[in-house]
Formats: sequence, C-alpha cells, structure tokens
Amino acid sequence: MSAYRDCLPLPHGNVELPAFLPDATLGVVRAVDSADLEACGIQAVVMNTFHLMQRPGSSTIQALGGLHRMSGWQRPIVTDSGGFQAYSLIRENPRFGRLSDRGISFQPQGSGRKFQLTPEKSVQLQLAYGADVVICLDDCTHPDAPLEVQEESVRRTIDWARRGKREFERILAQRRLGDGPRPLLFAVIQGGASRELRRRCAEELLEIGFDGYGYGGWPLDAEGRLLRDVVAYTRELVPPEFPMHALGIGHPASVVECTRMGYGIFDCALPTRDARHGRLYVLGGGSDEPVSYVYIHDSRHIKSDAAIDPACDCLACSRYSLGYLHHLFKIGDSLFLRLATLHNLRAMVRLTQRLRAEQDVRARPS
Ligand SMILES: [Zn+2]
Repeated sequence: MSAYRDCLPLPHGNVELPAFLPDATLGVVRAVDSADLEACGIQAVVMNTFHLMQRPGSSTIQALGGLHRMSGWQRPIVTDSGGFQAYSLIRENPRFGRLSDRGISFQPQGSGRKFQLTPEKSVQLQLAYGADVVICLDDCTHPDAPLEVQEESVRRTIDWARRGKREFERILAQRRLGDGPRPLLFAVIQGGASRELRRRCAEELLEIGFDGYGYGGWPLDAEGRLLRDVVAYTRELVPPEFPMHALGIGHPASVVECTRMGYGIFDCALPTRDARHGRLYVLGGGSDEPVSYVYIHDSRHIKSDAAIDPACDCLACSRYSLGYLHHLFKIGDSLFLRLATLHNLRAMVRLTQRLRAEQDVRARPS
C-alpha cells in the first residue's frame, strides 16, 4: 500500500505522483491527439462517465473497443463518475433531472432520451469502458447549501460508495484477472465546508475501504480562491499511504499547495482552456507563484523571435517563435490551439516533476 504514495500501479501503466491529468471529458483533450499527449509526458487523462454515456453513448464506446482503443490513448484513464456534472445540470434547472437515494435520473435539454445513473451502473459503465481508476458516484452539494442538505449528501455519498464497492468487487470477481495490476476504486469525500461532516464522511469511507480517495465538492470560493483550510483538513483525515485526488483542482499555484498538503492527483480544464485563450505558462522559480503568464494577443510579441519559455522543450518552444504564434492566434488558425495546449500541458508536467524532485529531497534521510 505504501508504494501508492509515490506511484499508482495501474493496468495501463504506472502513474508517478504527483501527476497532473488533463480533462479529456468527451474522450479527447481538445485540439491535441494521443501521440501529442504522450510526447509532452502526460501520464494519464480524466474522462467523464456522465458525458460519455450520452455522447458517443455506451454501446458505441463498446463497439469501438472501449475508451483506450477508441481514443488511441494507451496510458491510464481515470473516469469520473459524473455525480458532479449530474448535480450541476439538475441544480441549473430541476426540470432536467431528479436525485433520490436510488440514484440520479436526468434528461439534458435537447436530448430525447432519459438517462439513469445509479451507484452500481456508474461502476459497471466505468469498468466496461476500460477505466484504470473508477470513481464512486457521489452526491455533490454547494458549500453554501444548508447543513441538512450537506448531511443528506454525506449520508448518500457513503451509501452510494458502499453500493459502488460491492458492485466493483462483484464484477472483478467475475473477470479472470491476470497477474498485472487491477483497476483501482476511489471514493469521494463530501461534506461541504463543515469539518464535522468531512470527518464523518472520511471515517465511514475509510471503514468501507477504498484504494484511494477524492476531495469532493467545490474546491474554490466565490472569488475563485482555493478553500485552503477544508482542502487541507480533508487530506489530514486520510492516512498518508492512500493516494488522494484533488478533483477539479489544477491551477498551478493550487497544485503546488495541494501537493505539499499530500494530494497526488490533479485534474482540471484550466491549463488547456488558458492555452486556447492565449494565456501561456512560463515556469518560474517562486513557490507562491509557480508560473508567470505570456499573453499571446499582446502586440509586443509581433516581431519576437524568442520562444514562449526558453527552458521548455515542447514542440511550440523548440520550433516556433512568439511572433509566429502571435500570428497564428490572430488569424485564428487551429495550429495555435494545438501548440498552445501542448505547451501549457508540458509546463504542468515540468511543474509536477519539479514537485516530485522536491519530495524526493525531503524524503531522503539526512
Ligand atoms: Zn513550451
């Protein structure tokens, strides 16, 4: 178990921690392909059950040979259960679905079909898709929700995790597994901003027993700042030998901070979205602000022959100038989206490598 702290052994390979996982929500990281992701050192991606079961749909994914075959990605895939997305949809408009102890039923706008997501079905789908890390369906709430709503969410999250684990074990027992690593099952710790509820949720989930745990719920306050205290407290509730996934956290400064708290897995759409909007990361030395930004639309770059970051070895930096990238951005060429995405992802990989080296130094006996 203790090896999990530094490395997750998974059916499609090892993931060295800490690791940043880009969001390939619908089976693709926008603007780049799987070979691009490998080239910049991405170890694993996060895909989303809630979205994939709608598009392209479970029977299509099966017909295309599962998520790995379908997307041409041969490294590990973490599949999110979709609890957060289903909740967001229903919160946005209660007409779109219903949440009960049984599970979640939803019908997104414009969809002629009704979908059911129960704790059992979520695990069935994720395993059928070929996930390396399966995440239990959870009942998400907003940190501003009243205490009784938070209590119900914790009770339901624990109950759903128990049912998810039972289903996970049932399916794994039916499969004839080889000697290699099996898929892992993670449960999500809810409880909003209440320490008491976070503690109760963590204790009960630890009692049921999972391979790893996730920080659930909104990690940011209304101003977009990390909810530092509750994020740190939630990590302290779980023994250090268990890996923890900071779900939805991926701002470079938050990755640094949460790694020091003991989180090992990060996923977020921010670095790739920033890239597409022309906000490019330059890794700095400071630990408070681990990156500074290059805004590619800025006219100061028009005639610049320099790279985005001279220390970066990505395709964009090793081959193209800021001036050329500025030009691609201005004319709206799709090549800009690809090069910028590769660069920001490479920056996230280099950042986590740096954090790993820092942890190794700390772990070394003096
Ligand atoms: Zn670069």
